[in-house]
Amino acid sequence: MPSGLLTRGEWLVAARLQLQNAGVDNAHQEAEYLLCHLLQKNTAYLYAYPEVALATQQQTQLASWLAERLAGKPLAWILGEWDFWGLTLEVSPATLIPRADTERLVELALALAIQSKAKVLDLGTGTGAIALAIKKERPDWQVDAVDFKLDAVNLARKNARQLQLDIRVWQSDWWQQIPPKTYDLILSNPPYIHPQDPHLIQGDLRFEPQTALVGGNDGLQAFRDLLEPIQHRLVKGGYLLVEHGFDQATAIAELFTLGKLYGVQCHTDYAGQPRVTQGYKL
Ligand code: GLN
Repeated sequence: MPSGLLTRGEWLVAARLQLQNAGVDNAHQEAEYLLCHLLQKNTAYLYAYPEVALATQQQTQLASWLAERLAGKPLAWILGEWDFWGLTLEVSPATLIPRADTERLVELALALAIQSKAKVLDLGTGTGAIALAIKKERPDWQVDAVDFKLDAVNLARKNARQLQLDIRVWQSDWWQQIPPKTYDLILSNPPYIHPQDPHLIQGDLRFEPQTALVGGNDGLQAFRDLLEPIQHRLVKGGYLLVEHGFDQATAIAELFTLGKLYGVQCHTDYAGQPRVTQGYKL
């Protein structure tokens, strides 16, 4: 980074180079995010006034964020928030950072033929991302969300308050604290990574909670737990939709079939990988 005070444009170039050299994929975009976050403006504003010099304090703040990022800290945690389905969600080290991939699960859920006033459950809600996106699109649906971590519950509730979306969130280790009621739609992006997956020691995954990422000994345990009581949890015709790894579609289809779900179907994500499976109770 050159010394002295930089203009916004100069800072962007210098930051991009440093991020690039550190192996960050979207170096340019990440540099923009940091500067936009500092100025509380959008990118159009950055490029409208690139020649404006940064104040000392601003440059110091940016330098400290950049250092954190170069040390690997997820960008979302530095910003303290992340966008999902057009909603800005507060994020924290207690949960998984919402992924754009998971928007596919939301999209597929919204495409189902489901009655108005449907009862929906999001298992392992984390930031509340899935539940909040669904509530935003279907205000007449009653949306419940659980997470086994109290910090996640508090975060999801806070996000719901901030977005003024009326969902119910409580603490439950999968089904344990969920009262015996049935749902029209059950959604989950559970931990599904195999414990030996090398991705766990790369990128953001190094920092995110293992409990939100690793699905037991073979990556599939959470799906078994979810499916175990599924016949008592879905109404007739009710759907289960889960996100899973690109190489788990066959195993998930078997588990859905074992759980006596019908119409088992796997959908691809935006990159063309088989990542979301659905099935319904007959
Ligand atoms: N999709 C995430 C990843 O690969 C994993 C999410 C999960 O385990 N639920 O980074």
